[in-house]
Amino acid sequence: MALKIYNTLTREKEEFKPIVDGQVGLYTCGPTVYNYAHVGNLRTYIFEDVLKRVLNYNDYKVKHVMNITDVGHLTGDRDMGEDKMESESKKENKSAYEIALFYTDKFKEDLTSLNIIYPEIFCKATDNIKEQIEMIKVLEEKGFTYKTSDGIYFDTEKVADYSKLSHQNLEALKEGARVEVNTEKKNPTDFALWKFSPSNTKRQMEWESPWGVGFPGWHIECSAMSIKYLGDHFDIHAGAVDFINLHHTNELAQSEAYTGKTPWVNYWMHGEFLNLKDGEKMAKSTGNFLTIKSEFIDKNINPLVYRYATYSVHYRKQMEWNDEIIGAAINGYTNLVNRVRGLGKDIGEVNGELKERFMESINDDLNMSKAMAVVGEVFKYGISNEDKLATILDFDKVLGLGLDNLKEDSIPEEVEALAKERLEARNNKNWAKSDELRDKIKDLGYEAKDKDREYEIIKI
Ligand code: AMP
Ligand code: ZN
Repeated sequence: MALKIYNTLTREKEEFKPIVDGQVGLYTCGPTVYNYAHVGNLRTYIFEDVLKRVLNYNDYKVKHVMNITDVGHLTGDRDMGEDKMESESKKENKSAYEIALFYTDKFKEDLTSLNIIYPEIFCKATDNIKEQIEMIKVLEEKGFTYKTSDGIYFDTEKVADYSKLSHQNLEALKEGARVEVNTEKKNPTDFALWKFSPSNTKRQMEWESPWGVGFPGWHIECSAMSIKYLGDHFDIHAGAVDFINLHHTNELAQSEAYTGKTPWVNYWMHGEFLNLKDGEKMAKSTGNFLTIKSEFIDKNINPLVYRYATYSVHYRKQMEWNDEIIGAAINGYTNLVNRVRGLGKDIGEVNGELKERFMESINDDLNMSKAMAVVGEVFKYGISNEDKLATILDFDKVLGLGLDNLKEDSIPEEVEALAKERLEARNNKNWAKSDELRDKIKDLGYEAKDKDREYEIIKI
């Protein structure tokens, strides 16, 4: 069955055709590790994980590369402002390298708790400085660069179709770029390949180069590392929509200038944003910085509930974070887990018809809400519980909802004690007390059911 994906480059849903039969080269832009990832960032990583799982389900062997940006991403995206790593290092009184290591570990913990498969290759910008310098040297030799007082810049006027990914007219792009003025740039859309270390302060992260001591610009790392690991022509490059106009447009311009070939990448895929109510952005300063830890782990909610929640909105549509959507996901996920448990432990055969319907949904540009509707149908289908379980576990290769690894929940001691007390109250015919205790148990998320003169506790 054909797999169709939406390609930002052509603005069309296209049939996916790999460069090499049965294999896919996938590059996804990773985090800038100066802070925790928020649930918005993680929506993008879940979308990319689903993409990878869908490719695997279609029998492609995926080589997935993700970078870790640990240098060069400035507070202003357009080569102005402070390096995010160095500024956080001052705030936390740790070295920039310590900051990078700490938040890389936290990021990996988030991936694990969301059941996101690690990329085959994680690569750090600071581990690939030589490769970035080599690429800039080639761009210089080919005449795509120029020097200003603060760095080496890419001349966007030298490429014929700079806005082919964003589809914006160049005037609109230039207008956007003018927000941060650097009067030495030849064109507002030009961007830094190498920045010189400032003369008045000593940077923690800096390297020798043919142009002087400094550090790479933000975009060059992705071009250098993707080409290093995936070659100068690969299948899919993904990220969130905010990367289309700037980061990915610049990656594309410099990569094709470097290789002298087009296309560099066949399919560009972009996930939409997760927003707070009324389109409000997530920011640490406003106290709206929601993380997997703050919203799930600290509240004793399984983080996979978030993964489940993201399936209710197509990846190319904006999603709003609110209590209703998370509340519905808690119920939906708990219900699903209980129904899977109810199927028993014996595994039969995957049902072909259901599998086809499931595949039609995921192969239609990753339509996960439709795929979840097929999951719901499995339980009603006229097949044995063993076959239902086999089918659901097969689907979970794509869903990643941990259904193959369900642990029996242990009942908290507090609930156990209340249930015992309630049984005693009932045996003494103290109905008022028994009702009061039942409500307390319910508030903790459990229900105490009577079984003769015993009790059974179930999670609700
Ligand atoms: P950063 O660590 O800031 O470089 O961002 C990591 C990834 O998260 C990038 O692919 C961003 O485009 C993406 N991203 C940032 N904010 C959001 C959001 N609110 N919703 C979805 N993705 C986001
Ligand atoms: Zn990138």
